[in-house]
Amino acid sequence: MGAISENLKIVRQKIEAAAKGCGRDPSSIKLVAVSKTKTAEEIAGAVEAGQLCFGENYAQELKDKYEKFSTIHDSRFTNHEIEWHFIGNLQKNKAKIVAPIVSWVETIDSPELALAIDNRAANPINCLIEVNIGSEETKSGAAVSEVPNIARGFGSYKKLKLKGLMIIPPYSADPEFGRPYFRQLKALLAELNSLKMTPEPLAELSMGMSHDFEVAIEEGATIIRVGTAIFGERS
Ligand SMILES: *Cc1c(COP(=O)(O)O)cnc(C)c1O
Repeated sequence: MGAISENLKIVRQKIEAAAKGCGRDPSSIKLVAVSKTKTAEEIAGAVEAGQLCFGENYAQELKDKYEKFSTIHDSRFTNHEIEWHFIGNLQKNKAKIVAPIVSWVETIDSPELALAIDNRAANPINCLIEVNIGSEETKSGAAVSEVPNIARGFGSYKKLKLKGLMIIPPYSADPEFGRPYFRQLKALLAELNSLKMTPEPLAELSMGMSHDFEVAIEEGATIIRVGTAIFGERS
């Protein structure tokens, strides 16, 4: 077995243990394998190990890999079965690159960005609002006070569906450091649901990375974004 499939196995075991440890069903947690800077061949290795959901941060890199991957994939797998999540900062003028490829955009931070993606989308795209709770230094994500306004906009898009919230807390090597941020995101989701702005309650919380996904699962993550623990260190 290659390193990637071995790593995936370990990550899946940890997801299962963390979920069971807090009384959750492990199958209620979606693992996004973050493949930024990794090659299409490395992605293919993960696909062979049964991983079909990937996250990318850069529009052009996503497109290049998507196209390259189509030419190298094993006949058992096609791009159509792979679920691509966009998880980076997206400029409005790059919406046309990303919209035809992805099933999810996790980093909506303004109504203008959402509209730009909606205008370019051929198929339904699930969206998360990225919230800036406590990570002022990175400036990525919407301010908490903006979130209801962004959520309201989803009432008028043709292809975009709002599913929940996403957070990248300030970094610390200590996995416990993220816990209060994860709790705040969950509380914000409940608050948003109490406003009843969406036909269905929002259910998705994308939070937790390689070093803290177990803590995020304990705090209610339904989507975790894991790169290094699957693909190894990025150069
Ligand atoms: C790179 C990245 C990840 C994965 O980080 P790791 O520490 O390698 O697991 C998750 N989410 C976002 C938004 C990222 O940019």
